Amino acid sequence: MSDFVLLENLTLAYGKTIAVEGLNLSINKGELITLLGPSGCGKTTTMRAIAGLMPLRGGKVWIDGNDVSRRPPSKRQVGLVFQSYALFPHLSVFENVAFGLRLRSESNLKQKVMAGLEMVGLSEFADRHPTDLSGGQQQRVALARSVVMKPKVLLLDEPLSNLDARLRLEMRTELQRLQKDTGITMVFVTHDQSEALALADRIVLMRDGAIEQIGTPEQIYSAPVSGFAADFVGFETILPDGKGGGNAWRPSAVVLGKGPYSGTVRGASFAGERREYVLDSKIGVVKADVSVAQPAFEIGQSVDFDLPSDAAVHLARVG
Ligand code: ATP
Repeated sequence: MSDFVLLENLTLAYGKTIAVEGLNLSINKGELITLLGPSGCGKTTTMRAIAGLMPLRGGKVWIDGNDVSRRPPSKRQVGLVFQSYALFPHLSVFENVAFGLRLRSESNLKQKVMAGLEMVGLSEFADRHPTDLSGGQQQRVALARSVVMKPKVLLLDEPLSNLDARLRLEMRTELQRLQKDTGITMVFVTHDQSEALALADRIVLMRDGAIEQIGTPEQIYSAPVSGFAADFVGFETILPDGKGGGNAWRPSAVVLGKGPYSGTVRGASFAGERREYVLDSKIGVVKADVSVAQPAFEIGQSVDFDLPSDAAVHLARVG
């Protein structure tokens, strides 16, 4: 179902600071959307508006066909999971997950809580306290606590950013599975492009309080619309075409050691399998990485290079 969550001409502000302006976004039922963008672009503010934690300066928020713009958070059937787990430390894992269900006086409480814990692989931990769990386990409890409430939309604000790199990857896969199993519509905020690419059905790339581009991970990755979007998905060499547009290359696509151009190595760093270089040249700054199997170049050395046209992405605007 399209328009399951609909943000219509949304404008959000903190006093005189406009954080989001004229934003339109339609989210399908059961979709996992990521809001991606640099710090301060308005991701969290947009989430807060969906949750009802932020008054609207303009526009409307619709959820499942209802205009919820003036409804308090408790009347929106929206779940929230933050970077900090915000569990109750004095309650057991079971009671943390049961908390919201008790407030709603739900029947079959034990069954629902245990099903929630089962879903996140924590059935064995029901009697523990959150302080006796790892960060990843605490975040799973926070997820279970939200999911058992059967929200219409689950909002996740950088929920994996407190976890170490390995656990982050593990939790990504779990989140995807959880989303497919439950069919809950999810909006996931991140500034990490690889997280967004891995998780999302569609990515909403934000810039300065507005949407820069919406698309599937494949679309955003292979066909960014602007220099800003291209840079976000790793096209680090962007050369203007003099007509407002330009072309962009990923570091791995740049050929070093031969080619029609020449540049001077300004930066060189070792990155395991690859060496990364920054070159200054007449046509612009070029970022390249090449296999460590290739001979290394020194800082200050002059190096020929090529920018293969079949690896370029054409941008309508370079900004
Ligand atoms: P981050 O990734 O750093 O969390 P974000 O994309 O979530 O960033 P927001 O927190 O939504 O960005 O902030 C959007 C804009 O609103 C920024 O310009 C920010 O400075 C401003 N802003 C956010 N919170 C407040 C606040 N409480 N008071 C005033 N301005 C705020």
